[in-house]
Amino acid sequence: MKSSCSTHQKRHHIAINLKANRNGLERVLVIGAGLAGIAVSERLLERGIDFQIMNSVNRPSSTEAATGMFNPIVFKRINLSWMVDELIPELRSFYDSIGKRLGKGYLEPIEFSKCIPSDDYAHLWNKRASQEEYEKYISAVRNNLGDIHHAGILDCSTMMADYQAYLNTESKVINSDFDSRDLTFQKDGITLKGEFYDHAIFCEGAYAEQNPFWNWLPFKLCKGEMIVIKTELEVCSTVLNNVLNIIPMGNCLYKLSSTYGWEDMTWESTNEAKLELTQAFKEVFDVPFEVVKTLAGIRPTVADRRPFLGRHPNHESISLFNGLGTKGVMLAPYFSKHLIEHLVDGNSLMPDVNIVRHIKRYKNSLLVAD
Ligand SMILES: Cc1cc2nc3c(=O)[nH]c(=O)nc-3n(C[C@H](O)[C@H](O)[C@H](O)COP(=O)(O)OP(=O)(O)OC[C@H]3O[C@@H](n4cnc5c(N)ncnc54)[C@H](O)[C@@H]3O)c2cc1C
Repeated sequence: MKSSCSTHQKRHHIAINLKANRNGLERVLVIGAGLAGIAVSERLLERGIDFQIMNSVNRPSSTEAATGMFNPIVFKRINLSWMVDELIPELRSFYDSIGKRLGKGYLEPIEFSKCIPSDDYAHLWNKRASQEEYEKYISAVRNNLGDIHHAGILDCSTMMADYQAYLNTESKVINSDFDSRDLTFQKDGITLKGEFYDHAIFCEGAYAEQNPFWNWLPFKLCKGEMIVIKTELEVCSTVLNNVLNIIPMGNCLYKLSSTYGWEDMTWESTNEAKLELTQAFKEVFDVPFEVVKTLAGIRPTVADRRPFLGRHPNHESISLFNGLGTKGVMLAPYFSKHLIEHLVDGNSLMPDVNIVRHIKRYKNSLLVAD
């Protein structure tokens, strides 16, 4: 009798400790299954935390249209991309482990060169290439090209489709549109359509701008379009960047990516973008081609170009993972881990990414509402 009681007590303590280890996160609702939602899901799986993911079949995703490139260099002034030394190793191990889970590889290293537009640019490029922190990422100009190292491409749309299918077989997917009117706050959690969750993590990409819980944040959405062309002849075997990226896909197919638009916020392809992309291609190659595919998406970009992470200022049970902008492939792995370590382990968020940096806007939004 005594021993069974102590076993029971032991189990009880283990259960309490597990719960304590997860900081009360026993059952989580993730909203949105693009790159952000997938990254959060993978982190929850890693931590053994139960979750459901709600995704709308009626809302197209930016992830579907993404070229999936990651690049350590910002070409404008030839600077290193923010936190590149931390983000690139994390993204490699993260997408490799997703690949292992799904039995497929999604991440490819690329040979990548920048077309050097002027002597001044070449001078700055070579100066950077001789600096210690840049030398592993770029080489000195040769043949009017600057080579970039440690860049790659993630097959975003295939990975997303495979990951969603995997979560579906695990009975984790709810095909539905989240509506804030369906959510009720409870002590230590929320209910949504009769289901209780300890916490909800919103990963809605550009749609967050319409969500009353998050619409006070300074999103600065950016439409992106890309096209695929078929040429009569092979023109290049490595990825080239002039003002756009020219990405060889084999069989004379090339992805031309991408445009940056700040006015039209529809998810449809436009003739203007097609023209812009084909013009830029013609500046480099003089070969006949036809456009075989067009794709458009809205990037969840942010005024200060840093992701949005953290709990809602007034509702402890809901958090945001958003603002991946133009660099979701690089940012999602590192910052999904960062958010889960914050929610589960109580680690502090980096001030640069914490939504608290915009708390004044939240307070002002309450004044306006009054
Ligand atoms: C043309 C183009 C090229 C790009 N190229 C690159 C690139 O080369 N490299 C790079 O790193 N990034 C690139 N990006 C950016 C990249 O797409 C984004 O950083 C990233 O995909 C954003 O992911 P997300 O999950 O936040 O948003 P999304 O991918 O938009 O996903 C949001 C998901 O949430 C769902 N959802 C939204 N609201 C609700 C709701 N209320 N209820 C239920 N479900 C909801 C949507 O259906 C969608 O599935 C590109 C983007 C575009 C458009």
